[in-house]
Amino acid sequence: MHILLMGPPGAGKGTQAAKLVEKYQIPHISTGDMFREAVKAQTELGKQAKAFMDVGQLVPDSVTIGIVKERLAKPDASKGFILDGFPRTLEQARALDVTLHELGIHLSRVINVTVPDSELVKRVTGRRICRGCGATYHVEYNPAAHPDVCDKCQGELYQRSDDKQETVHNRLTVYHAQTKPLIEYYQDKGLYTEINGLQSIDRVMDDIVKSLRGELA
Ligand SMILES: [Zn+2]
Repeated sequence: MHILLMGPPGAGKGTQAAKLVEKYQIPHISTGDMFREAVKAQTELGKQAKAFMDVGQLVPDSVTIGIVKERLAKPDASKGFILDGFPRTLEQARALDVTLHELGIHLSRVINVTVPDSELVKRVTGRRICRGCGATYHVEYNPAAHPDVCDKCQGELYQRSDDKQETVHNRLTVYHAQTKPLIEYYQDKGLYTEINGLQSIDRVMDDIVKSLRGELA
């Protein structure tokens, strides 16, 4: 199962990816995670990526494509993967097609989990993360007992710079502009399915599985 998972920040993609990993026993390949690791390790690519991420912009293709290529060629991705956060541009989509062709892989499905922007802003700006253990909270949907303190380890809760209101608006504007041609690209290939991300987590998962089985248009 070779799945391409799309969706704006806050649509619940990460949650669905984790469920798909469990169901199909394939790796979740998130470019977001790869970037954050590179930034944390302060590699040359990480420093380049950070400069763009800090202002809510996308990392350029030249940086991104190389990272993804190396990852897809690793043995654990040979029987399948959930690719998340890539491609984000038509140029990346075409580069991905070339890479997959070289690896003898056909995409099974392109899944887009969609949620209205107003709800996304609420979901993302309300996120809080523990500096101690990395636990995640939401000021409205999943609050800690004390607003600034982790329930599990008493660590300090903070808001990621990526999750601040202005950055979120920037990210969504960029996201929609860049995603539209991708949607058309995969629609033309007959691979594209849109899933309603406002449903419960289980309903969203059910729809994704149906789509992978070819039971959903
Ligand atoms: Zn904690």
